[in-house]
Amino acid sequence: MKRKLAKLGLETVRDLLEHRPRRYEAAVPEVAIAALAGQEEVAIAGEVLNVSSRRRGRLTIVTARVSDGTAAVGATWFNQPWLAEQLVPGTRVRLRGRPGRYGFDVKSYDVGEGDATADFAPVYPASEELPPRRLRSLVGMALARAGDYCDALPAELRLREGLPLKRDAFVAVHRPESAEEAEAGRRRLAFEELLLLQIGIARRAAERERTLAASLGAPGDLIARYRRALPFALTPYQEQAIREIDGDLARTMPMQRLLQGDVGSGKTVVALYALLRAVENGRQGALMAPTETLAEQHFLTVEGLCAELGVTCALLTSASRKREREAALGADVVVGTHALIQEGVELRDLAVAVVDEQHRFGVEQRKALAQGCAPHVLHMTATPIPRTLALTVYGDLAVSEIAKPPAARKPVVTRWIPEERASEAYRRLTRLLREGRQAYVVCPLVEASETTLARAAEAEAERLRGAELREFRVGCLHGRLRAADRRELMSRFKACDLDVLVATTVIEVGVDVANATVMIVQEADRFGLAQLHQLRGRVGRGAEQSFCLLVSRAKEELTETAQRRLEALVASTDGFELAEVDLDLRGGGALLGTRQHGISDLRFAHIRRDRPLLERARTVAAELAAEPGPLQDEMDALFADTDPAGLA
Ligand code: ADP
Ligand code: MG
Repeated sequence: MKRKLAKLGLETVRDLLEHRPRRYEAAVPEVAIAALAGQEEVAIAGEVLNVSSRRRGRLTIVTARVSDGTAAVGATWFNQPWLAEQLVPGTRVRLRGRPGRYGFDVKSYDVGEGDATADFAPVYPASEELPPRRLRSLVGMALARAGDYCDALPAELRLREGLPLKRDAFVAVHRPESAEEAEAGRRRLAFEELLLLQIGIARRAAERERTLAASLGAPGDLIARYRRALPFALTPYQEQAIREIDGDLARTMPMQRLLQGDVGSGKTVVALYALLRAVENGRQGALMAPTETLAEQHFLTVEGLCAELGVTCALLTSASRKREREAALGADVVVGTHALIQEGVELRDLAVAVVDEQHRFGVEQRKALAQGCAPHVLHMTATPIPRTLALTVYGDLAVSEIAKPPAARKPVVTRWIPEERASEAYRRLTRLLREGRQAYVVCPLVEASETTLARAAEAEAERLRGAELREFRVGCLHGRLRAADRRELMSRFKACDLDVLVATTVIEVGVDVANATVMIVQEADRFGLAQLHQLRGRVGRGAEQSFCLLVSRAKEELTETAQRRLEALVASTDGFELAEVDLDLRGGGALLGTRQHGISDLRFAHIRRDRPLLERARTVAAELAAEPGPLQDEMDALFADTDPAGLA
């Protein structure tokens, strides 16, 4: 049970209390079975007369005849075969659903006691192993302890803003008697989240004002040579971002800029520009990536150009030995993972740091970096969020945006293919391979350890070598490979020595091979929208038409949101548009994907809909920022290992 809960991120009573219902059941009338008619959702209550179970293709249908004295009706459940055992004759049930093809289609049910069919019953994000009803009872137990939590909001503020006590808000959210009550509770909890976020931003802004960085003046000769060395002209968006960065670098206040642009939009070129600005001023630049694979990728990209310009460039990873490490620390441009940052204090000359996909870094590491030398920092992210939103949420962070990729690109053609027709996907893939293209096959995302994932990927690669991809050279990339092996694998793929990479999501960011024009994602419904978009960004990097083939179970077997995710991907290749869809589908926090902390931890706030609440929180934050109290303690706890906006 503990393990199942942990998978949902539920480890403490507090986690349970903060597990926001995805929605609430509507209020529906309870009707006599004899009076059942029409299509409206209703509740019925009665006794089970008998139960039967049958199969229809992949579908299991459980039917129970239920009588309430006025009449009997056949109530049907789909794909819940275990129910047949629970519904013994004589059992009292309350059912919510609507009259349908098979009698009464059950949407939710209570066997004996229960509140799943109650009006405004909360429906929680659940997992297959932990059904909503189980969660409901666990949350009920947690609610009994809700009073133990102190209210971080000062009473005076609470009264002024007309907000309920925190424990009352929890009760309202989990056991509302009306939609309004649930919303009032949610707003109270959302307000606190937003307030903490805004106080965090205010704190950080104040810190930055006290710090100095080296002013780097205007671009010089090295930059001119860099521009000439590039095999293409920069796009207007790249030029604009560079102007904005130059503006920041000329000042003595450390730059804190977010460079956002969709996958493949050309951020790396801009990043290297910023790094070279440090080098031409006799200082160091560092490029930091969240994973070793990505660091290696960046290194491969950057190294060539650096060599051409006579700039030294070194790769630093946790695998680097002490001697290598010391040598690397002296290079003009240092590329590495967070290991680099831990050693960061030794980068005495660091003037510009580029932090890729920043949200995966902890605040500690960033602090270590900042202590040594207060560098100018450019954060890069490929998960775009609407600019106005970014400004509101990040407050003190300047935003540059590469809105469009280099013109030569053709949008990736995306298809959603049901499993039964997976062979079509492989046929298309092999056809392209025969034409000399390369491909990725992404293995299913299972909730398991890196090691299990790695093993599954190896097994799948082996299977494909003997089946669909018999005639091709297949490599396998996963997080358990040793750095040297991984590097070799990547350079072989780059050199066209391998036709296909079977991979886990480690290829999600950074892998850049223009000749790879087709990707199959297995069990695509398991991935998040942002993640699929990132994965898809691995193809469509050259002038050739690229394809992304999303294979999943049959449409009918998927949840509605999974269907909408896949539909959205087929319909659009625009990251900003998809970010909006993602926001709508996931509501509150999961704006930047699932992994990072901070704003994805907003559980109750919806940063789009709650805009006025956010503005209010910002005003109040300005008043409260310096006042000690429980709110500050809460802040310290929150900031202890993560950073609310993920961007310090
Ligand atoms: P991102 O980091 O934003 O995903 P990259 O910087 O890796 O994108 O760029 C993707 C590809 O586009 C690279 O192969 C890069 O060389 C190429 N590229 C970047 N800028 C331009 C440009 N202005 N014109 C043509 N190609 C470009
Ligand atoms: Mg890149």
